[in-house]
Amino acid sequence: MIAIDGRYCKGCGICVYFCPKHALELSKEVNSRGFYMPHVVDASKCTNCHQCELFCPDFAVFIVEEEEGADG
Ligand code: SF4
Ligand code: SF4
Repeated sequence: MIAIDGRYCKGCGICVYFCPKHALELSKEVNSRGFYMPHVVDASKCTNCHQCELFCPDFAVFIVEEEEGADG
């Protein structure tokens, strides 16, 4: 899962630029803080490469890997 934290994101677009799979896109509308937030256009394209996470200067995007075989 690709998580983007609107408290820290400033809409710079670096994550969109560096995603090799084009899984992210900047919104066309500003959020409540006046930023064009990125959003996931196709989660199935994401390969969990963590490039977006590594390049985000504000630690606003991160990949949450689902655990397999977890009980409950
Ligand atoms: S790189 Fe970080 S701050 Fe920039 S748009 Fe992506 S999530 Fe937001
Ligand atoms: S983990 Fe990789 S493929 Fe997935 S959204 Fe981030 S940069 Fe794109």
